Amino acid sequence: MMGPAHSLSGAAAWLGVGAVAAGMHHPMPWPTLVVGALICAGAALAPDLDHKPATISRAFGPLSRGLCEIVEKLSLGVYNATRAKGDPHRNGGHRTLTHTLVWAVGCGAGASAIATYGGRWGVLAVLFVHLVLAVDGLLWKEVKGGHHVLVWLLGATGAWLLAGVLDDPGMGKTWLFTQPEQHYLWIGVPVALGALVHCLGDAMTVSGCPILWPIPIGRKRWYPMGTPHFMRFKAGSWVEIKVLMPLFMGIGGVSGGVALGLLGG
Ligand SMILES: [Zn+2]
Repeated sequence: MMGPAHSLSGAAAWLGVGAVAAGMHHPMPWPTLVVGALICAGAALAPDLDHKPATISRAFGPLSRGLCEIVEKLSLGVYNATRAKGDPHRNGGHRTLTHTLVWAVGCGAGASAIATYGGRWGVLAVLFVHLVLAVDGLLWKEVKGGHHVLVWLLGATGAWLLAGVLDDPGMGKTWLFTQPEQHYLWIGVPVALGALVHCLGDAMTVSGCPILWPIPIGRKRWYPMGTPHFMRFKAGSWVEIKVLMPLFMGIGGVSGGVALGLLGG
């Protein structure tokens, strides 16, 4: 899938978690719901850091372009080092290491550690990166022209304001993990969920996605998981824009309403 569909699916997934959490008597304070949805929308772009033309590889100028090159080489290296007999030869690292459950959980754990142990600046850093990505993903058409500096300013301002709101007592830093040393630990959950939702999105496209690496499936360790072949579509096709994106918005809207106690349960 392309950036906007990935971001929307990420936001919808977090709002869905919010609805489930409300049903399980762990309702999210509204800042947790909103900030989590934005983090998840941004994190849902992150796996494509192995792909130069992707939104994320351009989001932070030369910094993300350089990081993209490193991640792509690293991914290809890990692919070659762990490839089984049935895995085909590859020239590039796109859709390998960063498109696995292991990577998603690793990113989530990393973000939780930064937010929990890094103090206010740690939280701000995680928020800033993901807000910039969320703006790039959700407002893709508007940003495409390349006003990166404006997006960075928006990300920085948003991160500053939202970090302030989250930090107020009862406004979200203690959701799910209530001990004082566990503040902001939940921030890794939308980060991991976003990466996983990205993989599921890619699994619906023609190429599939090696989510379960390194678990061997048949003669492959990088088995491209996916929906049945007749259901798959090309990234950026009409299915994605006319069917999936409105669907994600609908699911997100209803879930958000449930999560805040405005609808039903
Ligand atoms: Zn991808």
